[in-house]
Amino acid sequence: MSDDRSLVIRNARVLALDDAGHEWPCADIVVEDGTIRAMGPDAAATARDPTKTIDSTGMLAMPGLVNAHFHSPGNLAKGSLDNLPLELFMLYEVPPLATAESGNRAGYVGTILGAMEMLRRGITSVHDDAFHVPVASRDSIDAIMQAYADSGMRATVAIDQPNIVEYDKYPYLAELLPPELRAEMDRAPRQTGEELLALYGLLVKRWHGSHDGRLRAAVSCSAPQRVTVDYFAGLSQLSKRHDLPFNIHILETKLQRVLGEEKFGKSLVRYVHDLGFLDERMMVIHAIWIDDADIALLAQAGCTVAHNPVCNLRLGSGVMPFRKLRDAGVPVCIGTDEATVDDSINLWFAAKTAALVHTLSEPDYRHWPVASEILHAVTRGGARAMRLEGRIGQLTPGCAADIVLVDLDTAAFTPCNDLVRQLVLCEDGSGVRSTIVDGRVVYENGRLTTVDERALRAEAREIAAAQRPLVAAAEAAARRLDPVYRDMYLRAARQDVGLVRRLS
Ligand SMILES: [Zn+2]
Repeated sequence: MSDDRSLVIRNARVLALDDAGHEWPCADIVVEDGTIRAMGPDAAATARDPTKTIDSTGMLAMPGLVNAHFHSPGNLAKGSLDNLPLELFMLYEVPPLATAESGNRAGYVGTILGAMEMLRRGITSVHDDAFHVPVASRDSIDAIMQAYADSGMRATVAIDQPNIVEYDKYPYLAELLPPELRAEMDRAPRQTGEELLALYGLLVKRWHGSHDGRLRAAVSCSAPQRVTVDYFAGLSQLSKRHDLPFNIHILETKLQRVLGEEKFGKSLVRYVHDLGFLDERMMVIHAIWIDDADIALLAQAGCTVAHNPVCNLRLGSGVMPFRKLRDAGVPVCIGTDEATVDDSINLWFAAKTAALVHTLSEPDYRHWPVASEILHAVTRGGARAMRLEGRIGQLTPGCAADIVLVDLDTAAFTPCNDLVRQLVLCEDGSGVRSTIVDGRVVYENGRLTTVDERALRAEAREIAAAQRPLVAAAEAAARRLDPVYRDMYLRAARQDVGLVRRLS
């Protein structure tokens, strides 16, 4: 990979998405040392000896998209399961009684495969809540980070590892399980909070701020019901000490609303608030089965919410109260979630779905999302959630040069009636011609400049083939638990939780 991070983009239509709303029909962008130094008509004249000039006539230059929520360990499993409710889906995806690990090379190749797919579509940054099966290790963390380092993508990565026994993460499950299955769950590999915090120490020391700041660490508790309070407190302190984003899945499903009442006697948002952990570093993922009091708490704490509409449809989770959150002042970002639930890792498609799905839950059309706020969510919203506001998600002198060049001579923009609306409703990433991250051209002329895509795709197929027996064993392990999880799911589904987030 070239380390040269200075270049000039000439004659592009420019959409800055900055505070002033700058837009030029024809302008230049001057990049030096990975940072935007100047922008505007004839800005190229101010460039000091650029090593690369890109003539962008007929192209749109815009900020790279930010995939606000993702789990890279799902990358090799796209299309592997039919639609299922989250609780059954997770049972098959990460079976609690399966112990086989896929290996660090699979972690590396899978991660880089997802990065390749995103970079080709102009997704320059990802916020990866990476889980490790069955346990995290220094090597499994390094494999993921090295993949992002080699790909050229900007990545903020957490370690998403619950530290409590499986049946305590759910309502009713402990009582529904036969004793022998409960005992098996007790014996399943599980790391302590201390072990996980030690791994976080390694992640922060080795990777946070590395590669010119392109790679960063985040923290994650997965979900409040999946960790001990001590470990949760340790993560909260770590997040504050290093100003790291805090990934937390809250109230993705109705069953989790039931769980909050059953286990803690309150909503899971209020549970986190009462522990004192709700703060502006928290990115609350999904936030579907929240009520008005939850929304007020999220707004008061300054949390961001990560909306994953394609995942929510795939798992039948329900529709997030988008307008209520926005009206309360809660910033929203958009993610694809993992490749098993948004199988194309296409943030453009997630953005379009976000623009459309809220018409189902809200009859008053004045409350429906508009294209400009969706585009904001997939750029600046994601930047904010990654604690990189003012650094990425917009084109402004002083910002990192994470820039995408989109071909305007395509069906998506012919004719171009409204650029922003057509970016959200017509573009699907296939019009992206060049992707620049931190001033480096990582994708151009139909190929990535950083890695050998063909070789990696071939290796991914080999790894997947070799893993088939493991997948079959995991599926067999999940089938033993399926009837119990189904009972649990149906019992929660029958409860009246005082709010509705589905059509029926
Ligand atoms: Zn997730």
